[in-house]
Amino acid sequence: MKAIISDIHANLEAFEAVLADIALYEVEATYCLGDLVGYGPNPRECIDLVREHCTLALLGNHDQGAIFDPSGFNDMALRAILWTRTQLEAPVPNREISEERWEFLGDLPRTYKDGDILYVHGSARNPINEYIFPEDIYSVRKMEQIYSRVEKYGFQGHTHLPGIFVEQQAGDYYAFHGPEDVDYTYRLTDQKTLCNVGSVGQPRDGDWRACYVLFDGETIYYRRVEYDVETTIRKIHDIDDLNNFLGDRLRDGR
Ligand code: ZN
Repeated sequence: MKAIISDIHANLEAFEAVLADIALYEVEATYCLGDLVGYGPNPRECIDLVREHCTLALLGNHDQGAIFDPSGFNDMALRAILWTRTQLEAPVPNREISEERWEFLGDLPRTYKDGDILYVHGSARNPINEYIFPEDIYSVRKMEQIYSRVEKYGFQGHTHLPGIFVEQQAGDYYAFHGPEDVDYTYRLTDQKTLCNVGSVGQPRDGDWRACYVLFDGETIYYRRVEYDVETTIRKIHDIDDLNNFLGDRLRDGR
């Protein structure tokens, strides 16, 4: 069994709760599909936990923004990214660890392929930045171009909207199923399928609980995990560079 997580966004309370949930199952590998940092109050701690617990981590757009030139972000996100950068650069007691974190983020790969399964943060066409939203099932050309780059199955994050995209007929018609539509369990078929694993640290599907998936090679199991969201909100409110909305939105999962 694998655990596949994404979009932690420096939310330590959510991430710790997810790691505790993963520990309840026989999970031999945990993959993180990017956005370890950005928005949340604990970037250093979350990077350290990923290094400790994840066998694979991919680069997300917020990770890229924190260490390279941030572009394409709104003011609120940009300010959070620049604050995140100060946290990573801060002359913390152990300077060596600080540099290691920076290098770790900088070395993260953009895609990972395992047999006929592709792992990305955004999409197969643009691994870091492209969103695949549920309503994109109606953009047949877009989906066609993305699916043509996927051999069979794909896992992604980035939108913070969990769910399963299924190609019904090559280049013709696509379906989307939210986790609750499939009772949090989806068995892969012969059809090409993309799975958005949702977000650990900032769900936006109206459910505040941290989201991730377990995957045994055939079936995807969505997990929703309660965590101490009020503590995270308080931490965000206490940091000037993190807009209060970044905390408040967590309570409603938006
Ligand atoms: Zn994200």
